[in-house]
Amino acid sequence: MTKPIYLDYQATTPLDPRVLDAMMPFFTEKFGNPHSNTHSYGWEADAALDIAREQVTEVIGSQSDEIIFTSGATEANNLVIKGVMEVWGAKRPHLVTVVTEHKCVLEAVMACKHQGYDVTVLPVARDGLVNLDKVRDAITERTALVSIMAVNNEIGVIQPLAEIGRLAREKGALFHSDAAQAFGKIPLNVNALGLDFMSISGHKIYGPKGVGALYKRSGRARSLAPQMSGGGQEGGVRSGTQAPALVAGLGAAAALALTDMRQEARRLETLMTRLKLGLLDVAPDIIVNGSEQERWAGNLNVSFPGIDGDMLLASVRGLALSSGAACASAVSGPSYVLSALGRSESESKSALRIGIGRFTTDEEIDRAITVFQKAITSLRKGAA
Ligand SMILES: *Cc1c(COP(=O)(O)O)cnc(C)c1O
Repeated sequence: MTKPIYLDYQATTPLDPRVLDAMMPFFTEKFGNPHSNTHSYGWEADAALDIAREQVTEVIGSQSDEIIFTSGATEANNLVIKGVMEVWGAKRPHLVTVVTEHKCVLEAVMACKHQGYDVTVLPVARDGLVNLDKVRDAITERTALVSIMAVNNEIGVIQPLAEIGRLAREKGALFHSDAAQAFGKIPLNVNALGLDFMSISGHKIYGPKGVGALYKRSGRARSLAPQMSGGGQEGGVRSGTQAPALVAGLGAAAALALTDMRQEARRLETLMTRLKLGLLDVAPDIIVNGSEQERWAGNLNVSFPGIDGDMLLASVRGLALSSGAACASAVSGPSYVLSALGRSESESKSALRIGIGRFTTDEEIDRAITVFQKAITSLRKGAA
């Protein structure tokens, strides 16, 4: 049996073999604990962390001592949201976020709400973008943190971070962005965007699962309360022995992503346009979910009116994709992201998330178009 064509790059990305090469030595002979400072085993592991910190830094224009390694973007998001409120919540007991954020941001924000903090969850417009007037109105002198994602994991839209950063700074609020789907894919400069914090995930950029980073702008005003007690690694913010192999993988993945970021975005845009035209050929009434301008080229979320998404998924067996976020797939019912865009329940249930990336080929796109066209045509025939 041939393997299905992988079209679920927002759920996770395959590990780039070059990344694996960078990781291997730290699984074998370079096994030291980076915190061991009395011998060369420790030094070489620690040096690997330094190199990776530098590689991540290069992508976002930060300083290398502003990178905190974590187990992933989920941990980074929890650390910044809960950690900032623990330090600043007494003075500034208010948090602002957006309804289409990843579950881990929304759940961390809800945990703060249960602790008694005020929370504003902003809506989005029909194109999935947050309205800047609403952001301006929401941020006050009582706001400690504004947390708004860069690229949405279900619909691929890019939020206007630079403008949001300016609005946050005007009121003295800290600004965080979950950039798991954006880091290494679109240009992101923490200074140009006015970011105080940014969350990064290894496995969304052809790196390993189980590693990520939090960018934390230096300075006392950005202090965080650690969410784990221990040996004080990562500048005391994130205790626990770092995983040099995973961190080296994150660093190598970041360096590779930076090398051909613009070229790769253009290549994916061409492929995705071809795929979309192929869908329009047999289903001219499809609805693209989310802004068609402000979007990451590797994502296309489409509703097929009159077709049940689960049935469509079942009839495109040769393709590996999903109807929405991997983490929400276990929960039935319409996607909360699509509902936030004002999609009806049936539109939302007829949606598929198509994700392409580094290893997607022209030939795979052509095969995918054929599979989609056959499935749509036969489902429409069955319904008629
Ligand atoms: C994948 C993802 C996460 C979670 O990242 P992990 O590294 O798997 O914890 C968070 N936010 C967004 C937007 C994501 O796409």
